[in-house]
Amino acid sequence: MPAAVVIGAGIGGLSAGIALRRAGWDVTVLERAERLKPVGSGLAIAANALRALDTLGLGDRVRALSRVQGRLGIRRPDGRWLAHTTVDRAQRKFDDLVVLLARATLVDLLAETLGADALRLGVTVTGVDAATGVVRTDGGEHAADLVVAADGIRSATRRALFPGHPGPVYAGVTAWRGMVPWDGGPLPSTETWGRGRVFGAHLLAGDVVYFYATDLSPEGAVHGDEREELLRRFGGWHEPIPSLLAAVRPERIVRNDVHAFATPLPAYHRGRVALLGDAAHPMTPNLGQGACQAIEDAVVLAHAVGEGLAHAVGEGPAHAAGEGGGLAAYSAARLERTSAIMRRSTAVCRATKLRNPVAVSLREAGMALGTRLSSDLMLRSMREVLEWTPPRRAASGRGPAARA
Ligand SMILES: Cc1cc2nc3c(=O)[nH]c(=O)nc-3n(C[C@H](O)[C@H](O)[C@H](O)COP(=O)(O)OP(=O)(O)OC[C@H]3O[C@@H](n4cnc5c(N)ncnc54)[C@H](O)[C@@H]3O)c2cc1C
Repeated sequence: MPAAVVIGAGIGGLSAGIALRRAGWDVTVLERAERLKPVGSGLAIAANALRALDTLGLGDRVRALSRVQGRLGIRRPDGRWLAHTTVDRAQRKFDDLVVLLARATLVDLLAETLGADALRLGVTVTGVDAATGVVRTDGGEHAADLVVAADGIRSATRRALFPGHPGPVYAGVTAWRGMVPWDGGPLPSTETWGRGRVFGAHLLAGDVVYFYATDLSPEGAVHGDEREELLRRFGGWHEPIPSLLAAVRPERIVRNDVHAFATPLPAYHRGRVALLGDAAHPMTPNLGQGACQAIEDAVVLAHAVGEGLAHAVGEGPAHAAGEGGGLAAYSAARLERTSAIMRRSTAVCRATKLRNPVAVSLREAGMALGTRLSSDLMLRSMREVLEWTPPRRAASGRGPAARA
């Protein structure tokens, strides 16, 4: 059985591990953390990623966690809606929905599906030989036919393979995330856009609200009390924002400066190594697609190397994964789509950063007019992102092992 080593057990690495296992690979996922403790509290998994999760046998288990109902859209700080649609309309248009869930719930589900036997926690990868597939760690070496670098936005593997690439740059905004218990009944899923600031709030299963907020900030700014900062910036906005901020426990708030690529990589593979998720295409969170694209990557990668494997019967898996084999097909399939989504996310981020009152009024007028002209504006603008479907054989769950 060909061997794959995955570096990193985030959403991307775990998804890749599952997809490759289903495609007949012997998988080892190496994670430097001693336990899986995802930061960031909540996550949107959109229709495209739900379809990718279907190929991993997990789509319906994630859909079952959906609490999004009624209206969803963008509001002003005074509460007026600028653009909106309904969950029913979105579901009719894309045959699916967006599911907002706790990050830990998704990570637990992925880890359980991968299987404890494939996961090694507390192992730090210290180097990879792209030509031979040898992965060096703080505890020894692993030989792999395929190495998947899912080691996140600060990927050391990416830096070693693409030393000339400038890496992620600061997007100019910092982001807070938190979870708050909620007994206030149904809650529309909203983002509220003010001058340079955004606040999103979504009800999750288990009567918890996941909120996030962004604001312009110097890189590396230090705050004494994040809840006070949030109240200062968003406390005067429409309900339920002040109530959520009053209720959140300060220790449940996480904050990160937002970084993303300004320049895409030239390829997502070198030798036997494939890059995936934030290691390959870190994007601003404005489209809620970073993890969704990592899951898509995982499914496409397993399909691409599975195809290579099928063609290389009798020639060994080295041929399948290597340069010019399945990994070139993987790069070709993913580079354009993820680069476009990355650019688009940056463009939305730029729009949220507007502070000038005239520019903000024009932005609001544009959104309101767009919604009046077409109630489907929000959905149409996301069509290309959301309508993605998995490669055909991956969708039918048939890997090379099944075809053999
Ligand atoms: C504010 C915010 C909101 C977001 N909201 C959404 C959203 O709603 N929907 C969405 O789809 N995306 C969202 N994203 C993006 C999403 O969080 C990321 O794109 C996604 O988590 C990336 O997953 P990953 O597996 O590629 O990387 P990571 O989650 O960063 O995982 C990388 C893993 O590799 C491990 N690792 C690193 N180096 C090594 C090493 N040398 N050896 C061993 N292990 C190593 C790390 O410990 C880590 O566990 C958001 C991002 C932000 C900042």
